[in-house]
Amino acid sequence: MPSAVFVQAKSGRGVETAEKKDGEDFAMTVVNAAKRVYRFAQGAAEGNAGMRALLGGKGANLAQMCLIGLPVPPGFTVTTEVCGFYERHDRTCPDGVGREVEMALEAVGRQTGARFGDRSAPLLVSVRSGAPVSMPGMMDTILNLGLNDETVESLAVHTQDRRFAYDCYRRFIQMYGDVVLGLDRALFEDALEHYKDRHDLAHDGDLAAQDWQEMIAIYKTTIAQQRDGKTFPQDVHEQLWGAIGAVFKSWHNPRAATYRKLNDIPENWGTAVNVQAMVFGNMGERSATGVAFTRNPSTGEKELYGEFLVNAQGEDVVAGLRTPHNMTESARLASQSDKPSLETLFPECFAELRAVNERLESHYRDMQDVEFTIENDTLWLLQTRSGKRTAPAALKIAVDMVDEGLISEREAMMRIEPESLDRLLHPTLDPRAECEVVATGLPASPGAVSGELVFDCDEAEKRHGAGRKVILVRIETSPEDIHGMHAAEGIVTTRGGMTSHAAVVARGMGKPCVAGAGGLSVDYEGGRLIAGSLTVNKGDILTIDGASGRIIKGRVATITPEISPDFTRLMRWSDDLRRLKVRANADTPADARAARDFGAEGIGLCRTEHMFFHEERIPAMREMILAPDRQGRVRALEKILPMQRGDFIEMFEIMAGLPVTIRLLDPPLHEFLPHGEAEIAQAAEAMGVEPDALRRHICELHEFNPMLGHRGVRLAITCPEIARMQARAIFEAAVEVGRRGGEPVIPEIMIPLAAMRAELDYVKRHIAQVAEEVRSQTGRRPQYSLGVMIELPRACLRAGDIARDAEFFSFGTNDLTQMAFGVSRDDSVRFLPDYAAKAIVDHDPFTTLDRDGVGELMKIAAERGRATRKNLKIGICGEHGGDPASIDLCEEIGLDYVSCSPFRVPIARLAAARAVIARNADMTSHA
Ligand code: PEP
Ligand code: MG
Repeated sequence: MPSAVFVQAKSGRGVETAEKKDGEDFAMTVVNAAKRVYRFAQGAAEGNAGMRALLGGKGANLAQMCLIGLPVPPGFTVTTEVCGFYERHDRTCPDGVGREVEMALEAVGRQTGARFGDRSAPLLVSVRSGAPVSMPGMMDTILNLGLNDETVESLAVHTQDRRFAYDCYRRFIQMYGDVVLGLDRALFEDALEHYKDRHDLAHDGDLAAQDWQEMIAIYKTTIAQQRDGKTFPQDVHEQLWGAIGAVFKSWHNPRAATYRKLNDIPENWGTAVNVQAMVFGNMGERSATGVAFTRNPSTGEKELYGEFLVNAQGEDVVAGLRTPHNMTESARLASQSDKPSLETLFPECFAELRAVNERLESHYRDMQDVEFTIENDTLWLLQTRSGKRTAPAALKIAVDMVDEGLISEREAMMRIEPESLDRLLHPTLDPRAECEVVATGLPASPGAVSGELVFDCDEAEKRHGAGRKVILVRIETSPEDIHGMHAAEGIVTTRGGMTSHAAVVARGMGKPCVAGAGGLSVDYEGGRLIAGSLTVNKGDILTIDGASGRIIKGRVATITPEISPDFTRLMRWSDDLRRLKVRANADTPADARAARDFGAEGIGLCRTEHMFFHEERIPAMREMILAPDRQGRVRALEKILPMQRGDFIEMFEIMAGLPVTIRLLDPPLHEFLPHGEAEIAQAAEAMGVEPDALRRHICELHEFNPMLGHRGVRLAITCPEIARMQARAIFEAAVEVGRRGGEPVIPEIMIPLAAMRAELDYVKRHIAQVAEEVRSQTGRRPQYSLGVMIELPRACLRAGDIARDAEFFSFGTNDLTQMAFGVSRDDSVRFLPDYAAKAIVDHDPFTTLDRDGVGELMKIAAERGRATRKNLKIGICGEHGGDPASIDLCEEIGLDYVSCSPFRVPIARLAAARAVIARNADMTSHA
């Protein structure tokens, strides 16, 4: 009887026939609570694409592909629930799972004409992980399982290729030793290298059947030595359960745990295990294996894209040790490759794959990343999933799919992570800049970035932690490098293709990456990067351009990218849908201009103290803060007034009638005080006082906790002349803009850090007096509204009272978070990462609003404020105003607007639209 391998190799459709006979084995999509093993084979499956949580993404999609009749080797999926049970019950499976697996194995055997462990027609299987969301490369896989000293002989006979059979067996032993038995992979790699050296063999390809046979013996000895004489298991069932257990266990390995943390994947989801009949891409020159994307994952172009290797197994493609072939002739020509494309080498499989891809894409209505194997000219599909893509590709694909009628505008918006827009707005290299190109590699993930060259991932993390930017250069990356990649601004590898680990992970992270820069050689020990006669040392600045693949010595100027028509359309759809207005936090005319360019509908926060951070303005500010008396302060304020007025005029003109919220001065004073002897001497001279006297005064102003000190409205109460000067600058600027014929401006004056209505009341009276003075001086009555920044818990609780005097509220959630948690904004980094690592908090509350605490305070404030004043306008201007998850909460609370930094305005526009969609949940969703 022919082996499973043989049946499939001869006729892909043979499986279908066999499966039909086995129809009674399939309970189709009836989900049985006690069922833990779901079978699939071409034409029928017990699962479907909607069962990702239970079957994992891979298992659910394998089932779905079978349901739509695509050529998938038969197999079965052990559910994610078993993974959880396995961990909780001392690494044992629930009762009955063993029987279910045995029955499923028998079914696969019937479908392939083989039997697991059978000497003459052995069924060989792969055992792979598959989490509910894709975690590429994070967990373990075992191929060629079912081989032992007997079955390998049968494989050799059936394939008439002893070399192939022994190579498969040694690969299996090696993988099993590493993944299941937990032995160091290097033991096997070193043994192989040693063997090659001894026999003068350069490449794996030079080893003959006899050599692999000897390697098998060496590997088996290695295993026995490492395990106190316990040998490599010959019992195929022991092999299988060892592999299933290892895959479950790999859910908990450190790299998978890091990946989950970085991607917010819950710990308790678990992985499924997929056991599937093997097909071989390494069965000779008419076999191949590769990955095919239904669209180009870098650009989003609609073209069959990907790469493959002839006579290879999947792991060879990922390892990136051999340069892959292109799929199409046009891609081959464009990359000037001399390796024939799939289109010319395997024309029939290519045509079939193209048709399959089209079906998959219209079925899933999303770009797919398909793993395929060709075994002796027969095409097999091993996986499909939504393809990872760059931000520009995500945008193009979403917009194109709307135009193609595949998805709705709402779905398109839900397909694009707001955060990813950041990458579309990232700088690219200035084409006019001089570049000393060290080497060029594959343009694996776009974006241009500079940083210090590092080779080591721990070091990348350390330097990043110290606030430095680094470029991580590795020969190739592996999942162990994830923390270093995360810390780096950009990644370079000297080996590997567009689908290598580095390329895939960097794209997912949105980081620039240049992969496979073969012209570079890495000297890890010497800390050097060598390209011909050029050397770059560790710590030197390197610039990389992930769009062109260039690696450049030194820092290179960058430019902000053009906004594409697709981007404009996405923003228009978002604007049509969202309810929340989006404003920007802008402190200077330049910020205001950027804010408008990004589509801000006003300024939600102008931090007036930031207008004085310039070198030439700081002295006036210092003079004001350090003035010994009111008179001195008034003198300093007179110098500040024209500066403020000038800035406001410019900002009002730029904003052309849009609302502008100006916050009265709120400087933690220490930020402005002179530091060090030289600065003190300089300031003393400018102020005409003795340095000693000034030093004493600075000491008197010292605060134990400036963030809880003399700032915000407290300054306006102790020194009302400051608030009066600012109000005058605002009113005079508004009058001046009106006089020049500009759009009428109604400035919103915002009082920071108020806790009590009485504080507001006091400042309000001063401002009203200034308005009256300006009216009598100019003959024009300044129009303005007055509001409060809600950033203290007391203000939230007393919002009903405060709203009597305030026409608007703006949540200052940076301070509100600080005050609610009692955690200093400036010192939180010392311990909050531990909180996250120990799962005490899900997110840094300074990045994403703490829904349960701070969110609750906001709800209370909004409700009480609006109970007093029905039309109270409410916004948010803390950093959270640009964070998508926080924007969702703002929508839920019913705020009127969010305000964030200008670059985040597009992110906020999209996030606000998505918040509406999520609320209504009325999209015709597709999982
Ligand atoms: C805030 O506290 O959220 C805020 C916007 O003000 P600042 O960061 O200036 O204190
Ligand atoms: Mg604040």
